[in-house]
Amino acid sequence: MKRVTGATGGKGGNGGARPEKPCVACGRPFAWRKKWERDWENVRYCSERCRREGPAPAGR
Ligand SMILES: [Zn+2]
Repeated sequence: MKRVTGATGGKGGNGGARPEKPCVACGRPFAWRKKWERDWENVRYCSERCRREGPAPAGR
């Protein structure tokens, strides 16, 4: 077996290393953005609009 160090995959379709996570407001997954590079862990909303809306209200 060969060990490949630092190789970026090869086959597998998506070669992007950008993480994704679901927006807590609209529930849609959104991708990492440059502007969040420092604050990605704290980002919960896909957009400013969702940020204002806040998390979807449970029940009703
Ligand atoms: Zn959203």
